[in-house]
Amino acid sequence: MKIQNIWAVGRNYSDHAKEMGQPIPAEPMIFLKSGGCLVQGDFKLPTFSNEIHHELELAVQFDDQLNVSAATLALDLTARDLQAKLKSQGHPWTLAKSFRNACPVGTFFKVNSLKELENLTFSLKVNGEVRQSASTRDMIFKIADLAKYIVERFPVQPGDLLLTGTPAGVGPIKTGDKLEAEIPQKLRVSWRILP
Ligand code: ZN
Repeated sequence: MKIQNIWAVGRNYSDHAKEMGQPIPAEPMIFLKSGGCLVQGDFKLPTFSNEIHHELELAVQFDDQLNVSAATLALDLTARDLQAKLKSQGHPWTLAKSFRNACPVGTFFKVNSLKELENLTFSLKVNGEVRQSASTRDMIFKIADLAKYIVERFPVQPGDLLLTGTPAGVGPIKTGDKLEAEIPQKLRVSWRILP
């Protein structure tokens, strides 16, 4: 299914909000990455940032009825240096979040019920070292609530993705790094960052 839009939620795990020095939100904080950011397989980083961070997130996909029927792991790559500057100026985050290859994804698995996604552990290793490890049960806003929220407010299209937020442990990646993401017994993805 064609992916036109990538809807993403910021600060959906309290430990990540804390590491960024942000309060726990009372309402979902949504931003958009272009569907063109999507990439499968090895990828290159942009040249206009010196600090690209990984944010490992469960990504869910909407079907023709705008129900969630598939999921995978995704990296919400973020140019943290640019984001900090944009935030300080009160500007939108587009430059920091929506660059080419800003959303590497794994292969999709079928979802029959959102319950299957409510208690999944997932993790990211960079060059063999665990950087992020969490469970979806620690989300502040649950997937069903996020999906309802965005469908009510935005022109969500069949095929669109929703990135459900990153847990703590975000950090920089660079050319040559090997990234390995996993949902045990369900999904393994690995990416190499190309020069
Ligand atoms: Zn994110």
